[in-house]
Amino acid sequence: MSLCPEEHNAQLIFNRDVYVLRLGHRPGRDRRVTTHVALVARAFGAKALFLADVSDTSITRSISRVIDRWGGGYFRVYDNIDPLGTIKEFKERKACVIHLTMYGLPVSKIISDVTSRCQEILVIVGAEKVERVFYELSDYNVAIGSQPHSEVSALAIFLDRLWKGVELELCFHDAKYYIIPSAKGKVVRKVG
Ligand code: SAM
Repeated sequence: MSLCPEEHNAQLIFNRDVYVLRLGHRPGRDRRVTTHVALVARAFGAKALFLADVSDTSITRSISRVIDRWGGGYFRVYDNIDPLGTIKEFKERKACVIHLTMYGLPVSKIISDVTSRCQEILVIVGAEKVERVFYELSDYNVAIGSQPHSEVSALAIFLDRLWKGVELELCFHDAKYYIIPSAKGKVVRKVG
């Protein structure tokens, strides 16, 4: 049994497919940040996270545990993927490749172009230094403000601008637990 209103279903609120490519993950050191990138991707309407060049089962395990309780079973984490090969595949099927970087163009300047042009989107976020080739291959290098902050915040704000806030209504029909919003305390209902 789902407690979601039908119109808050992912298929109804999202009108394009978004994927996230995480570059530069260092197992151990970046585990928490990359898990948060994956959590934002899932909660804010992306379909999958691609983890470049390395395997890290701790990320896949954490996200599976979240999905098991809170739903979103369609969301996938693929690790050890070839980033340039993935970008090539997306470009071949005419998806837009969007790299989030403080050096890019302001999100407010490009977002209407993106929403009118891009049916499928690969969003790239980095860790430390991102190689020049990713700037060159991207259709858009996009800044969420021109100060350094974090891949987690950059991704969340970009997705919020893309979806114009409707992602906050996302409700997963396959969840076991649902939060009942409350002014104080925690109210959670278990179903099934
Ligand atoms: N020098 C980096 C840069 O190019 O944005 C900052 C490194 S930051 C620790 C890691 C990642 O966070 C970056 O690769 C980028 O994806 C994202 N990021 C940080 N600040 C950002 C900003 N102002 N706009 C867009 N993305 C940002």
